Amino acid sequence: MFFEFSIKDAIDIILVALMLYYLYRLMKESRSLNVFVGIMLFVILWLIVSQVLEMRLLGSIMDKLVSVGVIGLIVLFQEEIRHFLYSLGAHRKVRNLMQLFTNSNKEDVDKEAIIPIVMACMSMSRGKIGALIVVERGILLGDIIETGDIIDARINQRLIENIFFKNSPLHDGAMIISKKRIKAAGCILPVSHKQDIPKQLGLRHRAAMGISQDSDAIAIVVSEETGNISVAIHGEFQLHLSAEQLESILTKEMIQ
Ligand code: ATP
Ligand code: MG
Repeated sequence: MFFEFSIKDAIDIILVALMLYYLYRLMKESRSLNVFVGIMLFVILWLIVSQVLEMRLLGSIMDKLVSVGVIGLIVLFQEEIRHFLYSLGAHRKVRNLMQLFTNSNKEDVDKEAIIPIVMACMSMSRGKIGALIVVERGILLGDIIETGDIIDARINQRLIENIFFKNSPLHDGAMIISKKRIKAAGCILPVSHKQDIPKQLGLRHRAAMGISQDSDAIAIVVSEETGNISVAIHGEFQLHLSAEQLESILTKEMIQ
């Protein structure tokens, strides 16, 4: 009985090993490796106590701890779990599949909204004024909007430029555009920890990358240092864009 070992068991073990490996990598990336080691030690101890030694009393206490512990872990690793599930759902193949079932609300934003954004970016690029504009799409950014100041105005080139003007109180942080309106400015975005971002790009670019990894938003950056315009979508940068390129990316991503 103990030595019956089928292919199914082998696959089972391989899958568990793979799961543990990915969990290990995930924990390592989020700097919680010690927590991972701690949990593993506890699980091993629990298995020894309840399965091998069959100590009933200690075993039952540990059983209770395990069932409560799962909830504790979910609370503790909320961010990581969210990130993991999001990246699973944002995988290109899953996205394509989803598009078959949902009618995306891209028609929400039309050409009228794109031109002022492009014009403002070009003008800020010429004047080397740093800017960070996030266009919300399917995934709502309410939590990000709350970190800044609400504006809720129609999209307007001069208003965008005014907000990012060097001494404006709202120039720091990101502007969020939602449902054809400038919803907020001075918002704080999650910063990406991606390793392969070019070294010369600083926090503004990392913040753009961060929000594009965590949501389906489009993040537009105008560099204060170089005047270059870049766009981050789904964790990928398109750097050094011309007005035409920016317009065509926004049109493709926001309307079609
Ligand atoms: P630039 O090319 O314009 O210099 P950069 O990528 O080198 O951009 P920094 O020079 O570090 O970036 O830009 C800092 C500015 O980026 C801050 O003044 C702030 O406005 C913005 N910023 C930095 N971190 C965040 C964040 N987490 N969320 C929103 N905005 C941020
Ligand atoms: Mg800089």
